[in-house]
Amino acid sequence: MNWAGNVTFAAAELVRPSSVEQLQDLMSDRRRVRALGSGHSFNPIADTDGTLVSLENMPGEVEVDPAGRRAWVPAGATYGRICPELHAEGWALANLASVPHVTVAGACATGTHGSGRSNPGLAAAVSALELVRPGGELETVTSADADFAGSVVALGAVGIALRMQLELEPAYDVVQEVFLDVPLDAVLDDLEVVLGVGDSVSLFTNWATPETFGQVWVKRRVPVGEPTASTRSLRDLVGGRPAPAAVHPVPGADPAAATDQLGVPGAWHERLPHFRADAVPSAGAELQSEWLVPAGLGADAVGRIAAIAPALAPLVLVSEVRAVAADEPWLSPAWQRDSVALHFTWRPDPDAVADLLPMVEETLSPFDPRPHWGKLAATGPDALRQAYPRLRDFRELADRVDPERVLSNPFVDRCLGRRDSLDR
Ligand SMILES: Cc1cc2nc3c(=O)[nH]c(=O)nc-3n(C[C@H](O)[C@H](O)[C@H](O)COP(=O)(O)OP(=O)(O)OC[C@H]3O[C@@H](n4cnc5c(N)ncnc54)[C@H](O)[C@@H]3O)c2cc1C
Repeated sequence: MNWAGNVTFAAAELVRPSSVEQLQDLMSDRRRVRALGSGHSFNPIADTDGTLVSLENMPGEVEVDPAGRRAWVPAGATYGRICPELHAEGWALANLASVPHVTVAGACATGTHGSGRSNPGLAAAVSALELVRPGGELETVTSADADFAGSVVALGAVGIALRMQLELEPAYDVVQEVFLDVPLDAVLDDLEVVLGVGDSVSLFTNWATPETFGQVWVKRRVPVGEPTASTRSLRDLVGGRPAPAAVHPVPGADPAAATDQLGVPGAWHERLPHFRADAVPSAGAELQSEWLVPAGLGADAVGRIAAIAPALAPLVLVSEVRAVAADEPWLSPAWQRDSVALHFTWRPDPDAVADLLPMVEETLSPFDPRPHWGKLAATGPDALRQAYPRLRDFRELADRVDPERVLSNPFVDRCLGRRDSLDR
């Protein structure tokens, strides 16, 4: 089962190879194979009717190359594992998602992102990856290779990543401050500016009171060890009041699971995620959906969603609006366009959510939405092809490196428009 409990994997077996040779053998003699990360996706993207492969028993260390400002990391390791190690050596990643619980390979494969007008998705930090291809060959793909842009956000369909090379920067501290009851109209009047008041900004609402964002989280880098001035600019710009105590994005949930707030500086990896690595993230029992729209259309898109708030509120635990900078991976939801991401954490009611998704997508359809590959959407293959202009190139790449479709599954086949293979 996946983390959310809404997908029961059809795999005949789950294996945990403990050497490269074992993984290569598996890849060469199984009919159907698929990598499983930490299982935090909400759809059957990780599933297979063959062999699921977890890399959790694979040996592998974080290897920093200080001169190149890069590190090789085990692809199956979680950010929660690698980030403290990078930090201990004086290094950092440019950005993180809301959860450190996900694996580097799994997060990158689905185009996972954090927030920030200057921050692209996590895959943008990858400069090379080592893949085991179907057949068992070990291959390194670097940013100099023509296939690279199709090989990182790759839905698990071009190989099983063993190691990933990540771009680093010197370690930095971050403070996060939360503002309550920020007027929605004022935010939408100047959405791009508001999403730029910090290095990472998240607007939260549960749509029960659509006239306000109940919480606005602002994360800002500060020079290590320096005191911080409070984020006055958000209040001056659009209103709201500083949260007097720590909060959790999901109303009513325990703030102890959230990363430290109230302007207390801390290491980048202990502030950029919303949730602590040692706690259950988010609501724990939930489903999620997310669509990215062009940044310039973000305010209109959020406004249209606000207009259907009464239909959303009964099913929404919390909704989050973030900025994501344009990047280059072909299947990145922010491919070549600065974006605004509209996220929904739903109550764990799969049927009700499935019934509501077409309405949300219809509402967002004027804004050219791109669905998140790891979350729930109703987007069909034709709409996906329109939303992701490089999808055809990606399919050609996947067909070339995996002609027998060893790595595919019905979810991926459907996304790629491989109608012929759906009956296999
Ligand atoms: C509580 C919660 C919060 C979240 N927050 C965010 C967020 O802030 N931003 C965001 O964008 N998303 C977010 N997500 C979504 C999440 O980041 C993605 O679903 C991500 O793919 C999960 O990573 P995983 O390791 O669990 O991968 P899995 O779900 O296990 O797998 C996802 C895909 O990666 C492939 N894969 C896994 N390992 C490998 C490998 N070694 N080689 C090749 N392919 C591989 C799988 O085959 C599958 O296709 C959140 C999810 C949850 C549950």
